[in-house]
Amino acid sequence: MRREPSREPLTRARRVAVIGGGWAGCAAAVALADAGVHVALYEQARELGGRARRVTLDGLALDNGQHLIIGAYRETLGLVARVHGTHNAGSLTHRLPLTLQPFGNGWKGAVKLRAPHLPAPFHLAAALLCAGGLSWSHRLALINDFRQLTASRFMRTAGETVAECFAGIPRLAFRAVWEPLCLAALNTPPARASAQLFANVLRAAFTGTAAGSDFLIPAVDLSALLPDPCARVVQQCGGTVHLGARVRRIDRSGKAMCVSTQTEQGRFDAVIVATGPHQLHELEVADAAWSEMRRQVSAFRYESITTIYLAYSQAPAIASLARLDDAPGQWVFDRGVMPVGGDMLRVLAVVISAGGAHDAMSHPALVDQVERQLRHLAPTMGERRFARVIAERRATYACVAGLVRPAPGRVADGLHLCGDYTDPEFPATLEAAVRSGAAAARSALRELKINPTAG
Ligand SMILES: Cc1cc2nc3c(=O)[nH]c(=O)nc-3n(C[C@H](O)[C@H](O)[C@H](O)COP(=O)(O)OP(=O)(O)OC[C@H]3O[C@@H](n4cnc5c(N)ncnc54)[C@H](O)[C@@H]3O)c2cc1C
Repeated sequence: MRREPSREPLTRARRVAVIGGGWAGCAAAVALADAGVHVALYEQARELGGRARRVTLDGLALDNGQHLIIGAYRETLGLVARVHGTHNAGSLTHRLPLTLQPFGNGWKGAVKLRAPHLPAPFHLAAALLCAGGLSWSHRLALINDFRQLTASRFMRTAGETVAECFAGIPRLAFRAVWEPLCLAALNTPPARASAQLFANVLRAAFTGTAAGSDFLIPAVDLSALLPDPCARVVQQCGGTVHLGARVRRIDRSGKAMCVSTQTEQGRFDAVIVATGPHQLHELEVADAAWSEMRRQVSAFRYESITTIYLAYSQAPAIASLARLDDAPGQWVFDRGVMPVGGDMLRVLAVVISAGGAHDAMSHPALVDQVERQLRHLAPTMGERRFARVIAERRATYACVAGLVRPAPGRVADGLHLCGDYTDPEFPATLEAAVRSGAAAARSALRELKINPTAG
C-alpha cells in the first residue's frame, strides 16, 4: 500500500540515483520516493519513457511503437493505478477479452476467437472450442497442448524452444494461435524463442483469473500513461528529474557513489542502473562484478519491432485491434479518429514483431506493401492521407531459449540493476521492466536499511 512520503527534512533522507528513465527506472524511482528516499532520476533523452514513450509526428501524439498490455501485467497496472489514482486508471486503457479477430473480410485459414465470461482456464478452453476457422481436431489439439502444459506445471527444460514445445500439434493450429501469441509476447520467432518464458506468460495469462488474458490497449499515449506521472510523484516527494542528462561514469568514493554527467557530479548512498541492455557498455563503472555482468549481457542479440502508422478517410471498424495475415503486418490497432492536416481521419497502427525481410525495405516501400495488404483484406478502405514508419531496431533482446541473464537487484555494494532484460519471469515487456524496477528499489532499500513501508 502507498504511504505518504517521509515528513523528515530532506537533508536527512538517503539519496539514491536512478540512471535511465524508461519504465524500469520510473518504477524504481516511485518505489524509492514512496519509501521517503530522495531520488535523482537521470535520463539522457529529452523525455522519459525509453522504449515506451510518446512521439509527436506531424502534430499527432503517437508512440514510438504500438504497445499491448495484458491483464496479467499486475505490477504495471498497479503502478499505473498508484500514479494516476485507482479511480482514474480504468479510463486510461481499452480492455477487451482475449480476442483474435481477422481484419476486414479475413482470409483463407483466418482464425476467429473470443474468450467468453467464464472462470480461467475454462474461458480459454471455451474460446478454443468455439474458434472459427479451425477444424475440430485442431481445436482439440490446442486444448490438449494447454492441458499438457498445465500438467507439467509450466516447467520446461532450459534449452527448449517454443517450436519444440509445441511440435506435437498440427502446424496450421500452431501458426493460427500459439505463433502470433509467441511473437507478440516474446518478440522472438518460435524456432528460437524460449519455451520457459512463453510458458510463464501463458501461466500468468490463463491460470489466475480470466481477466489475466484480457488485452488492454492504452487509450492515452505511453508517456502520459506512466513516465510523466511517475516524474510528478518523484518531484512531489522532493526528488529531482534530470532530462538530457547522460551519465558517463559511476565511481565509488568511500561509502558514497559518485555519478558524473558531462556537466556535473552528484554523491549518493546508492545507484540503480536502469538503462537498456545495449546501453550498458556506454557507462564507465570500475567494478569487477559489474564487468562480469556486462560480459554476460554482451552475448545478447536483439529483435526489431516496426510500427507503420497510416491515416485513412475511412477504414473498417475494429474492436481496438485485429489480426492481419502476416504479409507483412501481423496486427492492426485502431488509434481512433484524429485531426490530420485539417481533416478528421482514422489512424491505424500496423505492427510487425521481430526481424525479417521488412527490416531491409525502405520506409516508402514498406508503407506500399502494408497498404496493399490492408486493401486486399478490406477493399473498402478510403484514401490514405498520412503514413509514417517507426522501426525500433533494438526493440527487445531476443528471448531465445537457454539465454543466461543477470537478475534485478544488487550487483555490488551501492550498485543495483534493473531493466526488462533482468526479470526472471517475463520476457522483454513493460511488466518485466516494472517488476525489475520494483525489485531493484527493494534491494537498494534493504541495503540502506530502510523499511519500504516506513516512508
Ligand atoms: C516498438 C516497441 C513495441 C513494444 N511493444 C510492447 C508491447 O506491446 N507490450 C510490452 O509489454 N512491451 C513491449 N515492448 C517492450 C517494452 O517497451 C520494453 O520492454 C520496456 O519499455 C523496457 O523498459 P526499460 O526501462 O527496461 O528500458 P528502456 O525503455 O530502454 O529504458 C532505458 C532508459 O535509459 C536511458 N539511458 C540509457 N543510458 C543512459 C545514461 N548513460 N544516462 C542516462 N540515461 C540513460 C535511455 O535513454 C532509456 O530512456 C515494445 C518495445 C518497442 C520498442
